[in-house]
Amino acid sequence: MMKKLNTNLIILFLLVAEFSFAQVKDTSIINGIVHEATYNSQLENLAHELMDKIGPRLVGSPKMQQAHDWAIAKYNSWGIDAHNEKWGEWRGWERGITHIDMLAPWIKSLEGTQLAWSPSTKGKTITGDVIILADMPDSLSFQKWLPSVKGKFVMVSMNQPTGRPDYNWEEFGTKPSIQKMKDTRDKQTANWSKRISNTGYNNKTLVRALENAGAAGIVQNYWSKGFGVDKIFGAYTKKIPTINIALEDYGLLYRLAEDGTVPKISVRADSKETGIVPTFNTIAEIKGTEKPNEYVLLSAHFDSWDGGTGATDNGTGTITIMEAIRILKKVYPHPKRTILVGNWGSEEQGLNGSRAFVEDHPEIVKNIQAVFNQDNGTGRIVNIAGQGFLNSSEYIGRWLSAVPDSFRSQIETNFPGYPGSGGSDFASFVAAGAPAFSLSSNSWAYGTYTWHTNRDTYDKIVFDDVRNNAIVTAILAYMASEDPETSSRVKIVLPVNQQTGEQDKWPPQKSPTRRGGLD
Ligand SMILES: [Zn+2]
Repeated sequence: MMKKLNTNLIILFLLVAEFSFAQVKDTSIINGIVHEATYNSQLENLAHELMDKIGPRLVGSPKMQQAHDWAIAKYNSWGIDAHNEKWGEWRGWERGITHIDMLAPWIKSLEGTQLAWSPSTKGKTITGDVIILADMPDSLSFQKWLPSVKGKFVMVSMNQPTGRPDYNWEEFGTKPSIQKMKDTRDKQTANWSKRISNTGYNNKTLVRALENAGAAGIVQNYWSKGFGVDKIFGAYTKKIPTINIALEDYGLLYRLAEDGTVPKISVRADSKETGIVPTFNTIAEIKGTEKPNEYVLLSAHFDSWDGGTGATDNGTGTITIMEAIRILKKVYPHPKRTILVGNWGSEEQGLNGSRAFVEDHPEIVKNIQAVFNQDNGTGRIVNIAGQGFLNSSEYIGRWLSAVPDSFRSQIETNFPGYPGSGGSDFASFVAAGAPAFSLSSNSWAYGTYTWHTNRDTYDKIVFDDVRNNAIVTAILAYMASEDPETSSRVKIVLPVNQQTGEQDKWPPQKSPTRRGGLD
């Protein structure tokens, strides 16, 4: 009996001792999180269902809606409450079948993609010659040239001098040939922007002038500087299709058009306009038991561009936070504070879903203990910065101390950091003064190969790293939820800007676009 009491006293003493300089953590919960993430991972399944079975999640598309409904069903199947919250409306558009073929001087199916929101070919296959945007000395001569685009596909991008990425040149090229290639490219790039500005239009107004002059379609190439990779964004045309043709095929057409051969292509694009549709955020919740009106928010945008399937932007952030809350529900079902998940809509058009949430829920935003946002690719979390919150090192340091060393040793911290004004949804909360942080991952060639490209697909996901991130996110959420202290929102004094001589200002809260895609 006595012996038992002693043991209890020692444990009590140890707990109190630890409490005095660090936050108490229940190692059985930490171990439970790691165990569940490691031996019962749902990540592959979630990724397969979201990226392969649903697909890309363009704002206003039926697939975006399908994804929101899928997320609700997933959360409910784990016993987690969730709802879709409407915040706005968008032009509805659904991608259809696209065929792009070269018919002359020889036959070849071309690798290309209709840009998002591009008009369709109205159930027909359109055939026409391909011409290059003319190089005119000024807008007057361009206006004279403009009628000659009638019935033609007009190429509006420069032809890249090389389809090899720079790293490949640097590995195999001689110094003089690398320099020559770069000089050629710089000169061509400068000449091409001169060619555009000489028309008297910008990129957006130019394609509208071309369509008003009767062009059959707009052909562009937005190379992403890697092998076989292009960035796919939205179209500016209102009547005629805009297509991106992959660098290899674009170069072929361009060289032919340039030597006077006049290539002919046919395009069929069967997209559909679906009217004005509502846009949503999916919000999931595990109610807090002691402080239900204080919040730990796991944040990741749910939408994507639609050239690929949005696997790393932001499928990986999405499945990270879904897996994290699934694990928490199992291992830590009665959190002290309320744990929320925000699967935001329309981040890609300007953080719209999260900005709307911040605007619509001041009562939540003022009681946020922490926001953890994940949105820069599939890699391991390697950096957490304090976003300009003066005391962030104290509480993030406390929470990170519970992360097992094999994960924590990967992470560099930067305190107090500087308030982020954009880039992803944490910025919507930072702007409102709420302690919000980016769980930044290492790159895996994100910017070149997957970010907004036609190659952002399931096969690029590095599941071991995403598993690592689900564990780190779940532990941070657990620790933030349990912390006896409320996180400080004290901001750093911002430095004086070298250029303006004025003191930098905290980024202002911005309103979302609540009705989009209509101009
Ligand atoms: Zn993103």
